Order: sequence, then C-alpha cells, then structure tokens
Amino acid sequence: MIEPRPVTALRGVGSTLAERLRALGVDTIQDLLFLLPLRYEDRTRTVPLGELYAGQRAAIEGDVQLTEVVFRGRRQMLSRISDGSGFLTLRFFHFTTQQQTGLARGVRIRCYGEARRGPSGLEFVHPEYRRVDAAPTEADLHLTPVYPSTEGVTQGRLRLLVGMALDQTTADDPQDWLPASLLADAGLPSLRDALHYVHRPPADAPVDLLLDRRHPSQRRLAFEELLAHQLSLKLLRRRIQSEPGWPLEPDDTLKSRLLAALPFQLTAAQRRALAEIERDLELPKPMLRLVQGDVGCGKTLVAALAATRALLAGRQVALMAPTELLADQHAQNFERWFKPLDTAVALLTGRQTGKVRAAALAGIRAGHAPIVIGTHALFQEGVEFASLALVIVDEQHRFGVHQRLSLREKAARDGHRPHQLIMTATPIPRTLAMTAYADLDVSIIDELPPGRTPVKTVVLAQQRRDEVVLRIRNACVAGRQAYWVCPLIDESADMPYQAAEETAAALAAALPELAVGLVHGRMPGAAKERTMRMFKDGRIQLLVATTVIEVGVDVPNATLMVIENAERMGLAQLHQLRGRVGRGQHDSSCMLLYRAPLSSLARERLAVMRATNDGFEVARRDLELRGPGELLGTRQTGLAQMRVADLLRDADLLPRVHIAAETLLRELPANVAPLVRRWVGQAEQYGRVA
Ligand code: ADP
Ligand code: MG
Repeated sequence: MIEPRPVTALRGVGSTLAERLRALGVDTIQDLLFLLPLRYEDRTRTVPLGELYAGQRAAIEGDVQLTEVVFRGRRQMLSRISDGSGFLTLRFFHFTTQQQTGLARGVRIRCYGEARRGPSGLEFVHPEYRRVDAAPTEADLHLTPVYPSTEGVTQGRLRLLVGMALDQTTADDPQDWLPASLLADAGLPSLRDALHYVHRPPADAPVDLLLDRRHPSQRRLAFEELLAHQLSLKLLRRRIQSEPGWPLEPDDTLKSRLLAALPFQLTAAQRRALAEIERDLELPKPMLRLVQGDVGCGKTLVAALAATRALLAGRQVALMAPTELLADQHAQNFERWFKPLDTAVALLTGRQTGKVRAAALAGIRAGHAPIVIGTHALFQEGVEFASLALVIVDEQHRFGVHQRLSLREKAARDGHRPHQLIMTATPIPRTLAMTAYADLDVSIIDELPPGRTPVKTVVLAQQRRDEVVLRIRNACVAGRQAYWVCPLIDESADMPYQAAEETAAALAAALPELAVGLVHGRMPGAAKERTMRMFKDGRIQLLVATTVIEVGVDVPNATLMVIENAERMGLAQLHQLRGRVGRGQHDSSCMLLYRAPLSSLARERLAVMRATNDGFEVARRDLELRGPGELLGTRQTGLAQMRVADLLRDADLLPRVHIAAETLLRELPANVAPLVRRWVGQAEQYGRVA
C-alpha cells in the first residue's frame, strides 16, 4: 500500500525537501499523485529555429557551433546552436566544466526554453537541454506537466518525484474506491488510468480540454473529490443524528404571546420555514437545519420564534453572531421581544473580562440565562451551559465550515445534542447548496415583508462626491439617516481604519448641520455599541463605517447607503451592504462610488448591482462573471477548499455525485471512510471517520 507512505520514502527525498513539499500540501507519496498540473508544455514537437519568435516557449533541436565562456559584465557561457534553418544562442550564468565540455562543437542537442531577443538574435537563458544521442525522456514522449511551484523545488524535481510516485502505482494501489459500474455509468476512467493520463498525457492529447480541466481523467478526480466531501458531511450528519437530542413539546403559548406583541404579521415564507423548524424540534434527534433567505427577509424573528419552544421547556438557547455589532443588535431585539415574556437575555462577547465575564459564565452554567447571545466567544473554553437545547448560528457563511462544525462538538453535553438552526443570506444555486450544506436540511425564505420598496442603485464616479454629499444632506434633513462605507483600501493592518477616520472627519466638515458617527472593527466594543445605539436612536444621522456593518445591522430609518471603491468589492458583499437600507417604508437608495478607470469586468459587475435587487440573481451573475472564487470560497459559504474540483466548472457532476454518495453509503459502506480520508484533510474530517 503506498497510500500512507510519506514522501521521504522516495529515493532522494530528505527532510528539507519534504518540508518544502509541504507548502504544496504534499506529505505522502499519494499526495504527489493528486498534485495536478496547472498546464502542459508540448516538447514532443520541435520548432525549426528559422520559425522561432521572441516570447515563444518551444522545443528545438540543433548542432552546437561554438561554446565559449565570456565576460560581459559577469562571467557567462554562450553556446551557439544551428539547425540549418536558423541560429539560437543559449546563455548560462551558472554552469559547470562538464556542461562546457558537453556542449562541444558538433554535439546535437534537444532543448526547451523561452525565446527572447538577445544582442545577436534569439536566445534561451538557462534552458533545459539534453544530448540527442542520450535516451529519450518523458518530455519527448508525453506532454510535459507544469505543477504549482514552491520555493526551492524546481519543476524538473517535481516531475521526477511525481514520476516516481506514478511508477509505484499498481492495479489496486492506490485503491479505486469507486465501483466499475458507477464509473461506467458516468463515463469516467479508473483512478489509475486517470492519474497516469493527467501526469503523462500522450503527445496527441487534447490540450485545450486538459487546460480547461474538463478531460474525463480530470473529471474523474474532481468527481471523486466532490464525492468525498459530500460523504464526509453526510457521515457527520449521521453521527450527530444518531445521538439523542431534546424533543420539544409542540406548545405555542409563548410563541403566541410573542406574535401578538408584534406590529406586523409573519410572511407566508416565514411561517413555512418556522413550521419546518418546529417539526424538527419535536423529534428526539437533533435538528440540523439551514434557513436561507435574502437580506431583510426576517430570519432573526423566525429564530426567536423557534427559540420559544426551547424556553418553554425550561432549556437554554444560544445565538452566535459573527460580529460584536450584530450580537449587540440581536441582544437588543431579543430583549425587546422576550422581556415582556419574563425571559432574560444575556450577552457574552470577547470584550467582557474579569468579574463581568465570570458572572456571565456563572449565570449560563447555573441556567439563570435562558437566552445567551454572543460572538464565537460563546463557544470558547470555559463556557458551559446548564441545558442547551437550541443553537442558532446567524450569518453562518461568515464563520466558515470549521467554526460551524466545531461548535457542534462543544455544544454537546450530557449525551444530548442541541438542535441547530443555521441562518445565511448567501444565496447559492440549489445543487451547490446541496453540496455545501450536505449535512443540513434547508428551508428557504423567498419573500420580503410587505411594503418594502426596492432599493434604487446608482453607480457614480468618485469625482461626483459633492452630489452624493448633497443627497445625504437632503435625506437627513428630511429625517432619514445614511451610511457611508469605506472599504479596505489595502490589506495592510491599519489603513482601512485610518481611511474611515479621515472620511468621517471630511464629511463632518462638509456637513456641519449633521451628527456624523464613526464605527470600525478596531474600536473598543463599548464605543462601537454606543455609536450603533446612537445611530439606531437617530442621534447620529450619518454613520461612516468600514465593512463591519456588512452583516445584519438593522436600522429601518436609514435610507441612503454610499459605498466607496465599490469596484473593489465582491458582489455578494455589495449586496449585503445594500441590504442595510430599504428596511422601512421610505424609498431607499444605494450609491456605488468608483474610482476611474473601470475595467470592463468591474463595469459589468456594477451593472449587475444596478440591474437587480434579488440576492439569488446577484449570486448567479457573480458566478458567471467571476467564477466561484469569492462567492464560493471558504469565507463566503463555509465550504471546504477543494484540491481538484471546482464547483462552478464541475457543477454538472453534482447531481451524479449526490446519487453516488447514496449508492456508496448503501452498497459499499466500507469504501466510504478511506475515500473521505484520501481527500478531506485531517482538520476537516468532520465525520471523524475511523
Ligand atoms: P435578515 O433576514 O436579513 O436577518 P432581519 O431579521 O434583520 O432580516 O429583519 C429585517 C427587518 O424586518 C427587521 O426590522 C424585522 O423586525 C423586520 N421584519 C421581520 N419580519 C417581518 C414581517 N413579517 N413584516 C414586517 N417586518 C418584518
Ligand atoms: Mg440577519
């Protein structure tokens, strides 16, 4: 079995090289097999020197005319090659005496490099070459793979290592965990064939297909990876649901009181989602449910109504939000809803220390805090719940899959697992959702509360800032409020806050009649909370902010959203930010400011924002325009990173992957664990397969 063997088991691989390979995610010999080429070079055909042009990467063959060592600023070796159709110079700055003698006049060599213009015609600098009378190499017979590179490991070295790993494979090593019938149905090759093909494609291989990673060999590997991730989540779901939960009585007394106090009715979509949740809560196994709904559809209230069941049973509810700002806001809302019902709400955030924190923790442990709201601090060491029956995770895509899943482990106590309600506003197409959330049931809220007017979006060049300032003045004088978002200018640590501070000062000077506030991620929690409360109460009219306000913030009186450098932000993020306005009965606008010149892609993306208010449509267009990167990255969906598969490119495989997952679990359960282990990193093996 080569599967578990470390790369150091290969000839010539010591600990230094192994360490370098780790940067490529390569620890074992098998990892080398799954390190897929980024592209291929064709060295099987040679180009006549007379046809070679500058910038071309090509294989050539010719006779050495002259090799000499010269000093042109530094010592170097020049070798003049001719093939009858033209000349080429090879230039080496590092060379050995053997190389010099090896390239003697009359020797015929085969050489691969990138042609560039030199002082006496075209030249290759430090090309790879060999004598033609030497044995042909891989490169002459197959397309040459180019692997992702890393410091200190040359492409030649990588090719050699992968070649050694390939040569060690046998018919059942690495084992093909997919049954032949399944592969035949899907028209995919065996694992071994696929691996050999991707690393050593024949000279006549369809290069375009390979470059697009759509060749059946590549799709075979992508299929297997998608399947492994899917199975991993399904195993996890099974494991969790095999443990006892807290079946909650279908008692609506508390819910009815909460509903009666609301100034509005639930939407039909909210009622439907709530009914699905309530059915789960009544079961003796833990609920695992995702509520997906566009910004502003009213997910928080649905969560609160679900909480009444647990509270009525005398058990605790925890709500986790991705930012302190949002946790504060949820705490205020829940207090408003639950205080009249004599149910206390506790807030637990990372900024609490000393006695305050100790007291909060004691209350949670003793069960005096029926509702606990917080950031991820909720599930840190030392937080113990007396009897937690429901965990609500808001804006889960901000947490990432690790946090979402590790939270489950921590929340389990006394052999009982709390129900889990996960909320997200990231709308992704259904097949993708089935993959990203294969461990969850999904409820969709596809309706906004009535009376909302769609947000009007305009796109403006930065130079028209004065008009924007005027708009803000008019809106605020009319009693409304506005946001001004300064994005991350660059990745460096302090810059964004500085930019927000400067913008706030400039706007305060330009709008002396308005109260201007500032909130950013680096401010102390208490200051943030104070500012947000003042904004909520209308004592601040213009709130300058970084993207911390991206998620969840709900101030219905705010009707104007200005976003600077909008061209730099992802569509999903812009849509979230825009969702901060249009929450009340007044007409709202979103003004996207950009710095010219706009790339055509940026122009198109901003046009999408102008064209639609529908989060699903924004997501769909985002996928089309940019690929799944930002939208489907770990950060946005809580989806694990894939090695070979690409959710957009390989989306058509997904329906078949779903079926294969069921088939494997049913018919070949023994294959499941090793398949998951092969593709899903240790840290991500949520299923904890043995
Ligand atoms: P999101 O789904 O983005 O989290 P929120 O829960 O913040 O949305 O709700 C947005 C706003 O809509 C809140 O002010 C909330 O009180 C209000 N709301 C929720 N449900 C309804 C409803 N059925 N009718 C009217 N307003 C509602
Ligand atoms: Mg929300």
